[in-house]
Amino acid sequence: MPALAKTYDVKAILERLGIEKVNYGAFDGEWFGNGSKSASYSPIDGELLGEVIQANAEDYERVVKNAAKAFEMWRMYPAPRRGEIVRQIGEELRKYKDDLGALVTLEMGKIYAEGKGEVQEMIDIADFAVGLSRQLYGLTMHSERPLHRMYEQWHPMGIIGIISAFNFPVAVWAWNAMLAAVCGDSMIWKPSHKTPLCAVACTKIVQRVFERNNLPPAIMSLVIGRGADIGDRMINDKRIPLISATGSTKMGITIGEAVGRRLGRTILELGGNNAIIVSDKADLDMALRAILFGSVGTAGQRCTSTRRIIAHADIYDQLLNDLKEAYKSVPIGDPMEDGTLMGPLVDNEAVKTMMEAVESIKKEGGEIVCGGEILTGDAYKSGNYVTPCIAKVENSYKIVQNETFAPILYFIKYNTLDEAIALHNDVPQGLSSSIFTTNMLESETFLSAKGSDCGIANVNIGTSGAEIGGAFGGEKETGGGRESGSDSWRAYMRRQTNTMNWSTELPLAQGIQFGVKK
Ligand code: NAD
Repeated sequence: MPALAKTYDVKAILERLGIEKVNYGAFDGEWFGNGSKSASYSPIDGELLGEVIQANAEDYERVVKNAAKAFEMWRMYPAPRRGEIVRQIGEELRKYKDDLGALVTLEMGKIYAEGKGEVQEMIDIADFAVGLSRQLYGLTMHSERPLHRMYEQWHPMGIIGIISAFNFPVAVWAWNAMLAAVCGDSMIWKPSHKTPLCAVACTKIVQRVFERNNLPPAIMSLVIGRGADIGDRMINDKRIPLISATGSTKMGITIGEAVGRRLGRTILELGGNNAIIVSDKADLDMALRAILFGSVGTAGQRCTSTRRIIAHADIYDQLLNDLKEAYKSVPIGDPMEDGTLMGPLVDNEAVKTMMEAVESIKKEGGEIVCGGEILTGDAYKSGNYVTPCIAKVENSYKIVQNETFAPILYFIKYNTLDEAIALHNDVPQGLSSSIFTTNMLESETFLSAKGSDCGIANVNIGTSGAEIGGAFGGEKETGGGRESGSDSWRAYMRRQTNTMNWSTELPLAQGIQFGVKK
């Protein structure tokens, strides 16, 4: 149960992060804002955490102009020195890990351990980007023409627009921002209106680093404002060559269309419908623990949350019963308190959506095995606390085919591996996936070209909790494009192919003769 008397000091956490009662929502080196005021309430107990004066259209213009100016300078700053700035940002984040992790918990409701984990991801990607700043490699090629040299180089691209979702209010920005920074881009961040204070806190942290180094803090700019006012401007703005957006598939379609129309580029990280196949040859204890974290962690509000269990008929009943017992013992309550495993949903709207989904499951013929209720009482006064739900369903149900951003876990039965993989892939989304099996033929089949169709496929690990070293992203309606590790950095740069002629002749490619007689 949420503690009625808190064991932590919200005011002190906010103060240490520089969050005021009223904050400006636009930043280009200076803080300002002339739009409407918006309040941020904690989903834990409805406490007002702070207000933000959002950016209006003129504020947006000012931010873009200054981000463009910052880019002109930053693109000529050598990449390894850009890496040094990102190294300092990583150091600063280490200092603020506990407080920033706490703010993530206070503002969006994930448990404190996960809040701090999110900041750890920011530190990890900063470290990764520092190394990357000396490894923005291009290829060299052999020219078909004599005394010619061909190579390619990667140049900074411009202003990157980063649109982020509420559920990873700081890490996803960092995945983009740290890479974009070493790539020599400036950027403008539009966070979710549900988590504005996390964005203000992050921007204040990086502001100090840029100022200390006499660099324009507009390299990492911020505009807080509702989708229609600010988001629409960003996605239609030709001065922003790349929009990296995280959010629902519905939002991704709007953004993809708008940016595509102006032939801009996108990285779209959208909704998932992630499944775990549990084979009759699985270590069931391991599977159970992974399913529990994947389905109940972050109260089912991760893009990689486990939504579907595709269980072999021989172990289906046992797994379902064990999981039902485990669900009963999940401590639900104040996510800042030790021992809590599940906090509230982000807002009342999310609770309503979950309850509607529970009704849809029943209407379509599914059976609720446990959970799916709203918790009431003084301790749950924000109204955002629910019990995680398990339901027996058919994969073809409309509700199962859609992502409900809440802790609902669907159970589906299979008999053969081919059938399991077909069920697994038979959804519109393609983000994360996993199989639990100790049989090599099964695991290799799952990872093969005829196996999982997702961007992420795991064996004996759940669907959520990716490391930053790999490229992160999905297929199908999950969008496309990759963030974070591996060679994702290439998306933030423009490639240029160069040919140098160091002869005194002018031979043409393909042996074409094009001489004029003198
Ligand atoms: P959302 O789609 O409501 O909002 C995401 C962001 O898009 C917000 O900043 C919002 O203001 C902005 N936005 C919405 N419409 C816009 C428009 N027309 N133009 C410009 N910006 C617009 O998503 P949410 O509720 O904040 O987050 C949950 C969703 O995000 C889930 O579907 C989840 O799966 C997905 N998600 C995906 C990933 C991933 O990496 N694949 C990661 C986190 C979350």
